[in-house]
Amino acid sequence: MKVGVLALQGDFREHLFALGECGVTGELVKSAEEISKIDALIIPGGESTTISKLAKSFGLFDLITKRIADGMPTYGSCAGMILVAKSILDPASGQETFGGIDMQVRRNAFGRQTESFEVDLEFKGISGAPLRGVFIRAPWVESSAPGVEILASMQVAGVSHPVAVSQGRVLATSFHPELTGDNRVHRYFLEELCKK
Ligand code: GLN
Repeated sequence: MKVGVLALQGDFREHLFALGECGVTGELVKSAEEISKIDALIIPGGESTTISKLAKSFGLFDLITKRIADGMPTYGSCAGMILVAKSILDPASGQETFGGIDMQVRRNAFGRQTESFEVDLEFKGISGAPLRGVFIRAPWVESSAPGVEILASMQVAGVSHPVAVSQGRVLATSFHPELTGDNRVHRYFLEELCKK
């Protein structure tokens, strides 16, 4: 299976490294030809407006949208979560998403004081020690359709907000497992979604 990491902007090298640690030789992709040949895609953290604008200007936007809709296993972290959401509560002007998960996300949801923080999370389907979540100006899931599985949530002011979800063959996390050296989320994606 060829796993591509979308290399338009953001921390794509860290995802490539995490795949390598899982024994998978990933491939950085940024052309239509490369994206046509992969079997699975990771969309990294970064800036979702920039990634969507670059995808449009390089003529990749509709192709990625179609490949995800056609069932290509896809994992988005942070900005990548925003890009696989069906809609954004507070989009930048003209900001569009590829879609893949029937949810609405709120960008920069954790507010200014806590723009970046780390917290231990329980992740459904990943056993062992809690997962260290690194949140950097992260989104959360504001609402989702019944078919969306909530894998991890965080309590903020007494309200639970999903921060890891999946639907079909698409996975999204608000946080950045590619920055921690703990590759269990990447393994989960490879084993649970890519082999579905
Ligand atoms: N806030 C960023 C966005 O809106 C996401 C930040 C990240 O990927 N670390 O795209």
